[in-house]
Amino acid sequence: MNFDNRFLEKAEVKAIELLEKLKILAPPIPIKEIVTQLGLHLISYDLGDEVSGILVIENDKGTIGFNPKNSKVRQRFTIAHELGHYLLHKHASSEVFVDKDFIVKYRSAKQYSFAEIKQEQEANLFAAAILMPKELIKAELSKKDYNDLSETDFIAAMAKIFDVSIPAMTYRIANSNFYF
Ligand SMILES: [Zn+2]
Repeated sequence: MNFDNRFLEKAEVKAIELLEKLKILAPPIPIKEIVTQLGLHLISYDLGDEVSGILVIENDKGTIGFNPKNSKVRQRFTIAHELGHYLLHKHASSEVFVDKDFIVKYRSAKQYSFAEIKQEQEANLFAAAILMPKELIKAELSKKDYNDLSETDFIAAMAKIFDVSIPAMTYRIANSNFYF
């Protein structure tokens, strides 16, 4: 099957433009500061066990709620994902986005419309692109010789530098065309 994935490029470009505008040039990306700088409210809120994040838009004012029960790296990814919805999917002046487990959501794709899956893919790619910019990963690669490390250790080292989870970094590296 051939999917048209060009819509995903928009998310990657949007993330890079934002980092350039804010002059953020080194990891870890200060995602909470970025969100605050953009005028969104950020609140840590007990959303229960299922919900990792929400984005509430009220009269164009955005509030991102993240679950403090999740790990710090997961919280960072959630905040970046909700920021992606805000920048890419805000259509009405009042809207609510509720996010459960992004991966489960994707796996149980049958229950969701194509438009919803597309939005989640876009928000996930935006989150990955802003937290793990390809250019900054390349810059890390050129700083040090990582050849001695096993793939597992290399990914763990990168995940630590970028303050993301190991699965998130694994996925990002697998989906980027780096030439080692
Ligand atoms: Zn989402």
